Amino acid sequence: MDRLLIKAPYVISFDESQPVMRDVGVLINDGIIERIAPSTDFDGYEGDILDAEGRVLLPGLINAHHHFYSTLVRGYGKAKPSKDFVEVLNHLWWRLDKQLRQDDVYLSALLSILDAIRHGTTTIIDHHASPGFVTGSLSAIAKAVKETGIRGCLCYEVSDRDGQAVSDAGIEENYHWLQQVNNAPDPFLKGLFGMHAAFTLEDRTLRRISQLVHELNCGAHIHVAEALSDQQYNINHHGKRVVERLHDFGLIGDRSIAAHCVHINAREMMLLAETRTAVVTNPQSNLNNAVGIADLVRMSDLGVTIGLGTDAMTTNMLEELRVGLWAQHLKQDNPSCAFMEVTNTLVRNNPLIANRYWNGMLGSVKSGKAADLILIDYQPPTPLNDATWMGHLVFGLSQAIVDTTICAGRILMWNKQLSLDLDEAEITSQASELASRLWDRM
Ligand SMILES: [Zn+2]
Repeated sequence: MDRLLIKAPYVISFDESQPVMRDVGVLINDGIIERIAPSTDFDGYEGDILDAEGRVLLPGLINAHHHFYSTLVRGYGKAKPSKDFVEVLNHLWWRLDKQLRQDDVYLSALLSILDAIRHGTTTIIDHHASPGFVTGSLSAIAKAVKETGIRGCLCYEVSDRDGQAVSDAGIEENYHWLQQVNNAPDPFLKGLFGMHAAFTLEDRTLRRISQLVHELNCGAHIHVAEALSDQQYNINHHGKRVVERLHDFGLIGDRSIAAHCVHINAREMMLLAETRTAVVTNPQSNLNNAVGIADLVRMSDLGVTIGLGTDAMTTNMLEELRVGLWAQHLKQDNPSCAFMEVTNTLVRNNPLIANRYWNGMLGSVKSGKAADLILIDYQPPTPLNDATWMGHLVFGLSQAIVDTTICAGRILMWNKQLSLDLDEAEITSQASELASRLWDRM
């Protein structure tokens, strides 16, 4: 359906000029929010109407750092215990990614996206690795993105850890993908130049990527100082801290994403702020890997734009938001700090980051913006208004159930049922079989 009127008792818009609206009609036309007005203005409207009584309308959520490829590892118990982050990579993730084949990559993305839709996420910035299946891997993910109707910004994480041929193939995969999205623009698919992390990238590789990033006029997406070992390696082998080294190669900037930044100093924070590089924090992943907690308060004070990702720990952005807040309380040893800094990662900065690739169209309920919208079952038990909505988001809406997910005006889930042309039972049974075979190969 091209036109749809949603009658909403409450809208939380993520738009600073009018954060909360009561009893409004939101008219969607051709994938765009055409008009928002008091419900009574639409009396007598004769087209399709979705009555959102008992629910709150919000913009579709954005996940600014994710890994579709890790989906099939759920329940895998045969990883040796790890004493630090590098062992986590060696014992689990680098054993997994090497064994991924085309079907694994496609189905991992598909399943992860279905989960994301259930949790109200409509845009995902992904970071992909499959050293045994590099060429064509981003197209396999793109197929899943297109079939589900969400938006994805994709990249392949180049690394020298698996040798020259795999590194070269990763560079080619990014290059071809970025050429494709540049030459045939698609509102659902964007790209970045992916790199794993500075500690698995030689200078000659960074130099080459830098040339291509400037030729393509695109941003980069890389893990930065996730663990202290990344800093130590770069200082010992290159005489530079991670952000300084990337900066020297021209690989940070206002279209680039530095994921994690748990172990960066004030000088690096200032470089990220000056270059307008987006930092994306992933608190649950950092806690799980015991690498530390990023200092969001200090980074915010220094003017860094900080977004929120899940690093594939979950597809639930509101859960990630809550954990991010508790983690920051612990980090700062202060139960009253960082509420705005953490909440803004999701409600203000993720839209800002995604809009660098989607030309300002995403992340708020406002006329003229993309009709990426969700409805959450929620009847506010305390006043919900411009002063209180962030508290409702963190403490109430995050615990409620997403009922409806709409992307570009298309209903992907309604009444908690996916409305896609996909056989989910068939997909999950296929995935389970693929996972068994993948685990055998691992
Ligand atoms: Zn990551």
